[in-house]
Amino acid sequence: MAKILDQPRYKCALAAMQTVQSITGAIPVLHSGPGCASKLNDNNGTSGRYSPNIFPCTSISEKEVVFGGAEKLRSTIHNALRVIDADLFVVLSGCTGEIIGDDIKEVAQEFEDEEKPVIWAKTPGFKGNNYVGHDWILKSIFEQYLNRPEVRDEREEAGGTIKGLVNIFAGPPQQDPYWLGNLREIESLISAIGLKPNTIFGFGRGIENIKNAARAEFTILISPWVGLESAKYLETKFKVPLLHYPILPIGATETTKFLRAVQEFTGADKDLVEKVITEKEAEFYYYIERFADTLLETRILGKRFTVASDSQYTMAVTKFLVNDMGLFPEKVFITDDAPEAFRTQIANEISNLNYGIQAEVQFTTDGHDIHEQIKKTDFAGTPLIIGSNWEKKLAAEIGAHYVNVSYPMLEKLVINDHIAGYSGGLHLLEQIFSAAMSKLKL
Ligand code: SF4
Repeated sequence: MAKILDQPRYKCALAAMQTVQSITGAIPVLHSGPGCASKLNDNNGTSGRYSPNIFPCTSISEKEVVFGGAEKLRSTIHNALRVIDADLFVVLSGCTGEIIGDDIKEVAQEFEDEEKPVIWAKTPGFKGNNYVGHDWILKSIFEQYLNRPEVRDEREEAGGTIKGLVNIFAGPPQQDPYWLGNLREIESLISAIGLKPNTIFGFGRGIENIKNAARAEFTILISPWVGLESAKYLETKFKVPLLHYPILPIGATETTKFLRAVQEFTGADKDLVEKVITEKEAEFYYYIERFADTLLETRILGKRFTVASDSQYTMAVTKFLVNDMGLFPEKVFITDDAPEAFRTQIANEISNLNYGIQAEVQFTTDGHDIHEQIKKTDFAGTPLIIGSNWEKKLAAEIGAHYVNVSYPMLEKLVINDHIAGYSGGLHLLEQIFSAAMSKLKL
């Protein structure tokens, strides 16, 4: 019997239009029904030039379903090129256009001589979620934009590899609420160890950085599995060696491990890396020590926690709370429908914790089941639940402390806050202890 997806924690592949909207100057052109985009858009802000609610869409109707929608797409792209001052147009298909067999590649390629690039990516929801859609879109941009004759010529004229330049990719924009702040924090760490970060998302980045992606000396993908195909494309096509680092580093232990792995891979100055680690760790533990009385006070926070989030945060938060904070994990849940091929590796990595501590891991998209299991768990005190908005009601029901780190996030606004890196670990602690302390009866 077909299973019902209870409490969705991701959206369909077309929702990865948010990846396009996070590149300054890029705009998605949707070949979909009118309801798709209005349902998928979360209005979480874009990279600066357009409102997240402004984008061309073919609004496929019965007429296109019967007679085909290629002509409507053609006129939509044509008009978009004339009225929208974008640097990059990315045509994305939804389910309807793909089911009726419209060839978006053929139509988009009719515009290849236009001054502004028109890229296409097939993103129907029936083929996957927005985690994979994000990867498809990035690969399409690298494949189609970086191979345009004028971009290739400009690259060849500018010279080869830019020494020390490192492409960085982490959580998918907007699906990961902390995508932007985390990216900036990782950039700052990479700069501190003498390398030059190259990211394509957010303020001050964009098309020029996309062009430079093919000239980078290295790519670092910080992600358990999302984004691997596009990062590998840069490696195979443009010979940019890839460090696939599966753990988003939160707190001192994991961030130090991350910096040492980057040093080993890139050959960055070892003495400088160790100096940065010593300084950053000293600062991190200064804050921990200052608040040790609070952090060790079991009246405020119990010792046991669970996480219900995507692969990235379930792994990262579990490692941080065990390795840096000395808490114990109860069963943790991974909700992003991670591909089978990565599951053993992800589960092993989550169980690779300090002091031989083990964490039981379950991959599931069934929110009801997750909640029933959490309700039956003995946390030996007040439970701590790290999850999404879906866990808010559950936490209230069982009197748990609750912190939201993943989609859906309805009760919290994240502008550029981060939970990655040394300082990100402190930010996450602030949230956890604020949640716990707000329940103290004074
Ligand atoms: S699943 Fe298909 S029809 Fe539904 S919103 Fe996504 S693209 Fe549109």
